[in-house]
Amino acid sequence: MTSVLTAGPQGTRAAPAAAAENATIVARDDVSRTVARFVVRPDGPMLPFTAGQYVAVGMRVDGRLIQRPYSSASHPGTADAHELLVRHVPGGALTPHLWRAGVGTRVRLGPPKGLFVLAADDSRLHLLIASGTGLAPFVSMVRSLAERHPRPRIVLVHGVSRAEDLAYRDTLESWATAGLVEYVPTVSRPADPGSAGWIGRMGRTEAAVADICASLEPTDTVAYLCGNPGMVENASGVLRVRGFSDIRTESFWEGAAAAPSAA
Ligand SMILES: Cc1cc2nc3c(=O)[nH]c(=O)nc-3n(C[C@H](O)[C@H](O)[C@H](O)COP(=O)(O)OP(=O)(O)OC[C@H]3O[C@@H](n4cnc5c(N)ncnc54)[C@H](O)[C@@H]3O)c2cc1C
Repeated sequence: MTSVLTAGPQGTRAAPAAAAENATIVARDDVSRTVARFVVRPDGPMLPFTAGQYVAVGMRVDGRLIQRPYSSASHPGTADAHELLVRHVPGGALTPHLWRAGVGTRVRLGPPKGLFVLAADDSRLHLLIASGTGLAPFVSMVRSLAERHPRPRIVLVHGVSRAEDLAYRDTLESWATAGLVEYVPTVSRPADPGSAGWIGRMGRTEAAVADICASLEPTDTVAYLCGNPGMVENASGVLRVRGFSDIRTESFWEGAAAAPSAA
C-alpha cells in the first residue's frame, strides 16, 4: 500500500496586523545567491517539535503580516532556535522581504506543525530524497535518527541546479565520513557558473534515485521526499514502478502534474 503524507495548505497567507512579532533572526548565512540559512530564535522557550515539521515565519509588509511555512533543520531535542533554509523566489510575497532581513530583524514565528515526520522505531533503511531547500527537514531527521539505537541505515539524495546551492554540504560530508549517512549530492546544471569545479554526480534528482534504488530492497525501505513538486511526483513514480510502496512526501508549493523538476 502506498502511504502518502502531503503538506496541508500554505499556512496563514496574510494575517491581520494584530499578531505581534515574537522572534528574532539571530544568524544568517548566504549559501548561494539564491539560498540562505536563517536562524530564528523565539522570545520565549522553544515549543516542542518533531523532526520534519515546519514553522510559519511572518514579516510585516505594508502593514500586513505575510507568513509562509518553512521546515526546521534544527535538532528537535536541544535546539533553542529554528534553522531555516530558504530559497529567494523573485516576485514572491515574502521571500524578497526576508532576503533584505539581517541579524536582529524581528519576525512572527508560528508553532511547529506538520505530519511529515519519522515513524517511531522504524528500523528499515531510510531513503531521504530532497530537491533544493527540501533538504531542511532531512537535516533535522538525520540529527534525530543519529540518536536511535539501533540506528537505521540512511541514504540521503540531494538534487540542486547549481553546486553552490548544496546547503549543509560540509555537515553532510562530515556525517558521511562518520558513517551516519550515505550522502548523494547531484547537480542538474553542471555547466552553470554556479557549478564551477563540480566533479561529482550530474543529473536530476530522479535519475540519481533510479540508480540508487536499483540496489535497495523495497520491502525494507521507507522513502521520504521533499521539495519541488515536480521532483516529488517524478521520483515517487520512479520508486513505485520499482516496487517501493512506503513513500512519504512533502511538496513546498503546488506544481503542475509531472512537471520536470528544477533539480
Ligand atoms: C510545509 C511547507 C514547508 C516549506 N518549507 C520550505 C523551506 O524549508 N524552504 C523554502 O525555501 N520554502 C519552503 N516552503 C515554501 C515557502 O512556504 C514559500 O512558498 C516560499 O518561500 C515562497 O514564498 P513567497 O511568499 O516568496 O512566494 P509566494 O508569493 O508564496 O509564491 C510565488 C510563486 O512561487 C511559487 N513558489 C513557491 N516556492 C517556490 C520555490 N522554492 N521555487 C520556485 N517557485 C516557488 C509559488 O507556487 C507561487 O507560484 C514550504 C512550503 C510548505 C507548504
